[in-house]
Formats: sequence, structure tokens, C-alpha cells
Amino acid sequence: CPLGPALLFVKTSQGKEEGRRFYSCSACRDRKDCNFFQWEDEKVSETRLAAREEYNRSHQPPFTHRQNVERKYETPFRAPFLIFHRGFFKVCFLLSLVFKEHWDHQFLCDISNAQLRSPSQLLYPLENKKTNAQYLFADRSCQFLLDLIIDLGFRRVLSVGTPRLHEMIQSKASQEEDLRVRSLLLDIDFRYSQFYTEDEFCHYNMFNHYFFGGEAARETCRKFLCQENGERVIMVTDPPFGGLVEALASSFKKLMAMWRETGREGNTSQEMPMFWIFPYYFESRILEFFPSFSMMDYQVDYDNHALYKHGKTGRRQSPVRIFTNLTPSVIVLPVEEGYRFCALCQRYVSSGNQHCEICDSCTSKDGRRWKHCVLCKKCVKPSWFHCNNCNCCALENHTCEKTDAGCFVCGNAGHKRSTCPSLSHT
Ligand code: SAH
Ligand code: ZN
Ligand code: ZN
Ligand code: ZN
Ligand code: ZN
Repeated sequence: CPLGPALLFVKTSQGKEEGRRFYSCSACRDRKDCNFFQWEDEKVSETRLAAREEYNRSHQPPFTHRQNVERKYETPFRAPFLIFHRGFFKVCFLLSLVFKEHWDHQFLCDISNAQLRSPSQLLYPLENKKTNAQYLFADRSCQFLLDLIIDLGFRRVLSVGTPRLHEMIQSKASQEEDLRVRSLLLDIDFRYSQFYTEDEFCHYNMFNHYFFGGEAARETCRKFLCQENGERVIMVTDPPFGGLVEALASSFKKLMAMWRETGREGNTSQEMPMFWIFPYYFESRILEFFPSFSMMDYQVDYDNHALYKHGKTGRRQSPVRIFTNLTPSVIVLPVEEGYRFCALCQRYVSSGNQHCEICDSCTSKDGRRWKHCVLCKKCVKPSWFHCNNCNCCALENHTCEKTDAGCFVCGNAGHKRSTCPSLSHT
């Protein structure tokens, strides 16, 4: 499909495969955005293949990355811009991207150089939940991540779906000569090609590890991962939360393999350092694919996400955390925000997270104080009670229903995705 190779899907029911397997778009989970569909064993005729290729070609961006880079240096900045709509690119004029309320106005305006350096402030975020889900870091969280990366000694950041972090690094690099941190942005939002050169941005799909720019773009990425002059690399990614964890994990493993193949200083037995930013209720899914990872207590906040704002100002505390393969003790969390070091766990934890003597761990996932259930033999959310019917802890007013198939979100038996307790945050 226009977004690169499709993925092979299978429907499961009660833990068993059911029905024919089929190929569908890797990135769009809404058929309205991309309706690519093919049975696994389907014979596709030559004419249909040709039509499909033609369709894919006609749904690529109208300008190449190179053309966009060249246009960037035209002043005043008057060329038509691109928007991403229903999975595809459309030409549009700049102002419609800048101000939501001017959505249909088609006049042009001049953009200052300062604005050109902060595209994430300028571009209208794509909030289409199912496909793009662009939630931009709040300044506080972005600054924290960058300081942490620098303090840990990294000088290269592979920014996968983290345009705002990329932007902060670029602007820091232009201000401070001696502290050179570099970033390469990989993102599916092609609008960024209007702001960054081919060495700074690759148009990339993280659900199928597809570089739209072909071998040249792949080579750019590979080169970036070579730790020249001992500049250590870390990958930071903040994928859409609705994304399939196995697809993401498979792509990230390929990026890790790319890093390993550069073969610098005994990379071969190590993993590329990584921060995977994702909600805490995906912990077990992430650990399934990356057993070396652990979850940090730091709550990552967003600017344009009504729910996931900082502590008391937002409606709720953010459920988004940092998963990393670095030693937890080196991830220093800000004490002024209430995080403290647990000497027993050898990691920083949130203020409400109490060390449980029985579990021998700081067990809270959401920042509140959890309580230990002797019957479940683990700590549970403060609002939960032990249910003898279900033989586990749950919300007091839950309906006792048994489903054999594990929940899609947390993997536990006993409920479906729609009633997953981890999503309700209560
Ligand atoms: N918090 C980050 C943004 C995360 S939003 C920041 O402030 O920098 C998710 C990002 O992933 C967006 O930039 C979006 O364009 C990108 N994205 C969404 N689907 C993608 C895909 N299939 N492949 C690559 N990037 C994708
Ligand atoms: Zn502890
Ligand atoms: Zn406990
Ligand atoms: Zn219990
Ligand atoms: Zn029950």
C-alpha cells in the first residue's frame, strides 16, 4: 500500500487462530484511512497489481524530500505546503496548517527563520487517533529527556517519532558549539521534510521498518548509527499508543540490528541503548519482546493531550512512562518533582510509590500507593478488592465474567479490551 509493505494479520478467538489470514495496512488501523486488503492465499491478477502500483505511485507526496529542502531556502517562504489527510498527502497552503481556525483560508504568509526552526510549533498536530496520533511533549518533559540523554553521555539521538525532541536537539546544537548532540528524525509525517535536510530527517514507517527514501535513506540511518569519534548513540521513540506492539518491536529490533552491524567497539553482544516511551499498562507486552527493559516511574507529559498533562493541572496523571534497557539506577529522576531513590530497588520511584516488603519492590505503576493482596500474592491498585469469584483483585463493581482469551491490552485473562482495568485508571 502507499505506506510500504502490508502486515499479515490473523484473527484470534479464545486464544485460537480463526479464519483466513490477511494482509492489511501496517500503519492505518482505520479502513477509511487505507483500505488495502488481501487474503494471504489470494491470487492477484497482473492487472490488479498494475493498478495497485499506479495507485501507490499517485498517493506519494507531490514533492520529493530534495525539492522540499530546496524550497526551504526560498524567501519569502511561499510555496504550497503539504498536509496529511486520511492517510495521504495533499497540497495545501501554509496558513491552514498554522491556525486551526483558518483551516479553509488559502492565503500565504511569511514565516520567520525562528519559526522554521520550530516546526512542531508551526505545524498543526495530526491528532487522528488511529493513524498519526501526534502528541507533543510538554517542554518540561522534553527538557528532562534531553538533559538526561546528555548527562548519560550520549551525543547522537535516533529520534523515532519524536519530532519535538529532535527540534530541541537541533536548536541546542546551533547554540552550543562545544556540546554537540546530533539527532536524526525518523517519522511518517512527511511535512518535516520541508524543514530538515536528508541528513536530519528520513521519511519512515515504524510499523514495517520501511524507508520511503529507499536505500539512500537507509544508508543515512546506518551511517548515523556508526559511533564515529566515540559519539555514543541512543534511540528514543514515542509511537502512537494504539500501535501494535509486536510490529513496533520487530522494527525496533531491526534498527538495533543495524546499530549492531556497524560493529563498533564490541557492539555485537550489546543492545543499542533505547528509551521507548509508552503507557505503563503495556509493560508486560514490551517486556515480552524486550526482556532486558525496565519501566521508569517518570511521568511523561504532553502539550496537546487533554488527559496526559502534568500532575494536578491536567485532569489525570499521565500514564506514559519511559521503558529502557539502561541500568535503572543511572536514570536520575527530578527530586524537586517528588521522585526519590529507593536503595532497595536501586532506582528512582515516584513519591507515592512505597516499597512493599513482601514483593520486595516498589510496586506502584501509576504513582499512587498500591496495597498488597495476600491471596493474589502481589500488590494491586488502591481501588481494587479481592473477588473470590474471579479469584483475583478487581474493581468492587466489576461483573464477574470469565473469558479464556487474554485481554488485548494487558494480556490478562478475565476481561476484554473494552473493560480492561488498566485503561480505566481507577
Ligand atoms: N511526543 C513526541 C511525538 C509523539 S507523537 C514529540 O513531542 O516529539 C507520535 C509521532 O509518531 C508523530 O510524530 C507521528 O507523526 C509519528 N508516527 C505516527 N505513526 C508513525 C509510523 N507509522 N511511523 C513513523 N512515525 C509515525
Ligand atoms: Zn523499592
Ligand atoms: Zn506487594
Ligand atoms: Zn487479590
Ligand atoms: Zn469477580
